[in-house]
Amino acid sequence: MRALEGKVAAITGSARGIGKAIAVLFAKEGAKVVVSDVDDEAGKRTAEEIRGIGCEAIYVHCDVSDPRDAEGLVKAALDAFGALDILVNNAGITRDALLVRMKDEDWQRVLSINLTGVFNCTRAAARAMMKRRSGCIINISSVAGIVGNVGQANYSASKAGVIGLTKSAAKELARWGIRVNAIAPGFIMTEMTAKLPEQEREKLLSTIPLGFPGEPEDVAKAALFLASDAARYITGQVIQVDGGIAM
Ligand code: NAP
Repeated sequence: MRALEGKVAAITGSARGIGKAIAVLFAKEGAKVVVSDVDDEAGKRTAEEIRGIGCEAIYVHCDVSDPRDAEGLVKAALDAFGALDILVNNAGITRDALLVRMKDEDWQRVLSINLTGVFNCTRAAARAMMKRRSGCIINISSVAGIVGNVGQANYSASKAGVIGLTKSAAKELARWGIRVNAIAPGFIMTEMTAKLPEQEREKLLSTIPLGFPGEPEDVAKAALFLASDAARYITGQVIQVDGGIAM
């Protein structure tokens, strides 16, 4: 029996990168998957790819910073598959700059997607999950939210906020059988890290004790564990998938 047989999972920002890897792995493990993103072309392609390997998937447009889109994401899961068992809050952006040069809009945009977006989707999903007295929410934070990072005051603050939100939500929702955990990835090879200047990438890579960057699938495997019954007694935790950066 596959780990997520018959479950319904919605993953935000899953057109590409870590979110896509989670969507594909969850589908291979038996979940019916709701792929969602703001990049509709890429999102539809990802859902198509998943259907192409014989699994069930739909695509739904969801800008996580808009509470109406968050409600729409949950409704789409219920309409298409009759339930929502797992939510992965993965959508996130960076707008890096040194603190003293950071523009107001770059602070606001990062907070509104990375933190308020997690709140919007968690609130919408929790209402549906509470009715069934079960559910699992996984929030993708970052090691930057644990140890901070030069040039990422907005990003680090948003990701630290996600950890606080994870723990509060875990305490509030436990009585309804809903588990809430976070994953804090380190340096993972995606378009987000490909954007970094070469010098910065080299510097970051040199700080990884295991000596190599992670792949999106490394994060997806941790998410699979948290979503599965193997983690039925785990809530309010942050798992670092970072090659040892922040130990
Ligand atoms: P990515 O390759 O940039 O993919 C992120 C996806 O989210 C993109 O498809 C993006 O669409 C989408 N997105 C952007 N704004 C959105 C919004 N408002 N609503 C919904 N979707 C939106 O990023 P990634 O590297 O896979 O990162 C995924 C998550 O892991 C993020 O939360 C990130 O902070 C976290 N993380 C990543 C790393 C890493 O090393 N890669 C490390 C630690 C944490 P567009 O392309 O159209 O913007």
